[in-house]
Amino acid sequence: MSELEKRIVADLSAQVALVTGASRGIGKAVALALGKAGAKVACVARNADKLKETVDEIVAAGGTAAAFTCDVNDGKLVSEMVDVVKEKWERIDILVNNAGVTRDTLLPRMSDDEWDDVLNTNLRSVFLLTRAVSLVMMGQRYGRIINMSSVSGLMGNPGQANYSASKAGLIGFTRTVAKELGKRKITCNAICPGFIATEMTAALGPALEDEVKKRVPAKRLGQAEEIADAVLYLASGSASYITGQVLTLDGGLTC
Ligand code: NAP
Repeated sequence: MSELEKRIVADLSAQVALVTGASRGIGKAVALALGKAGAKVACVARNADKLKETVDEIVAAGGTAAAFTCDVNDGKLVSEMVDVVKEKWERIDILVNNAGVTRDTLLPRMSDDEWDDVLNTNLRSVFLLTRAVSLVMMGQRYGRIINMSSVSGLMGNPGQANYSASKAGLIGFTRTVAKELGKRKITCNAICPGFIATEMTAALGPALEDEVKKRVPAKRLGQAEEIADAVLYLASGSASYITGQVLTLDGGLTC
């Protein structure tokens, strides 16, 4: 069995998970992993066709899932969607705030729109989702919140002033939510992936391979499934005393 075939095992049956950005990449891998672990999965993104593919794969693997087409920048849609998930499955145990975008350019050329778009999707949406879902979690006195940050939020990255600021903001948000909700058995942690093979990094083209060879001790891109394993662990019973933490999965990039 190869390194990547050995997946973490967790039992999340009777739990309900909501994953944003579940239409592709890391979010899709996370939704599949949670679904295979027995959770009912609310898959959230804008692309209905791609979301359906995620849901179909979970169902084909014997799990339960439903698609919720929603732009996470729209506060009204977000709170309506959270209400519908709660009504459908009666609880929400796991929230994975994964939806994210990049609009890279050097600071002097960065437009207001490029700043606002990235900050809204990557940070403001996490506030909207977490505020709505935390009310459900407080009522049931249980919850796991996992926010997808980035090594760019730890180190900064030229061309990503907007993205790095949003991902660093997520870390402060994570620690505050952990402190506010800890007494109600709700944990909140952040994950910082390094270079992971998805459409987001494919957009960087062949230059990425050189970057990885130069800078990453593991000498390869990470796989979305490796990030999904970390989410599964933080969502599982094994991680009940871990909160307010930042878990970096980057093949050694930041060490
Ligand atoms: P991706 O392949 O580009 O997928 C992004 C996901 O976010 C898609 O499912 C997209 O769905 C969703 N999304 C974007 N804007 C949205 C909106 N307004 N409303 C709802 N959904 C929205 O990216 P990825 O590589 O999987 O990245 C996932 C997360 O990991 C992001 O937060 C990213 O910043 C973070 N990350 C990635 C890497 C990496 O190397 N790939 C490294 C560090 C951190 P729709 O287009 O269907 O809406």
